[in-house]
Amino acid sequence: MGPIPKLERNLPPQDPLEYIDVDAELNLNKHIKKTANNNEVIRQIALETINIKYPKDKWFHVYTDGSLLKQYDGAGAGVHSAYFNHYFKLPDNTTVFEGELAAIECALKQILGRRIKDQQIVILSDSQAALQKEKQSRENLLREKTYENISKEYDKIANFTRKRAVAHFRLYTGHNCLNDHLHRMGLVQNKLCTLCDLNRVQDAEHLTKCPQLAVSRQINNDLTYLYWAARMKMI
Ligand SMILES: [Zn+2]
Repeated sequence: MGPIPKLERNLPPQDPLEYIDVDAELNLNKHIKKTANNNEVIRQIALETINIKYPKDKWFHVYTDGSLLKQYDGAGAGVHSAYFNHYFKLPDNTTVFEGELAAIECALKQILGRRIKDQQIVILSDSQAALQKEKQSRENLLREKTYENISKEYDKIANFTRKRAVAHFRLYTGHNCLNDHLHRMGLVQNKLCTLCDLNRVQDAEHLTKCPQLAVSRQINNDLTYLYWAARMKMI
């Protein structure tokens, strides 16, 4: 038997955005409106864009995808490339958007952990919102190290029930599914509350005032409870 090969230690978990320079490209080569009947056209234009901007002989391609899992109450995330493939389930109460983000994060960690060097890498996601978010994260990180602040807050809520923790985390970071944030991400037409007719911005503060949540407030005036009450009514 030969000598035991020396194993290289895995890198400790870190925020990949601190180590990788990420640029987000959000446009196809041609402008096109997404409608139900032109998926094939969009697919062709996307492939054309990829081939022109990121030819396979010069770029390492990583595909990411997030989806809702029918059999579970939560999202799934997938990462595909020539070197690695991953598919995993996210916790309950997660959204497609979070699935997309988790897939991109997984891709970044794989790229960092495997130390793929000397090659340009492109992560291909069909979620414009997720790419925009990743770009913003990078900018926030450089500006104020938001991740550190958020992780400290996350320690505080470790003892909450999962559902309450999710709501608290979303409300604290501002990355929630209320119209104020959804509008910022370009996912809804405007940021006003669609539950009532007060024409107020639907943010965390509005949850304490929205007349449609009056009964919910009597049951439990906790913001995390009101968050889920609002979300249930919005679906
Ligand atoms: Zn309202």
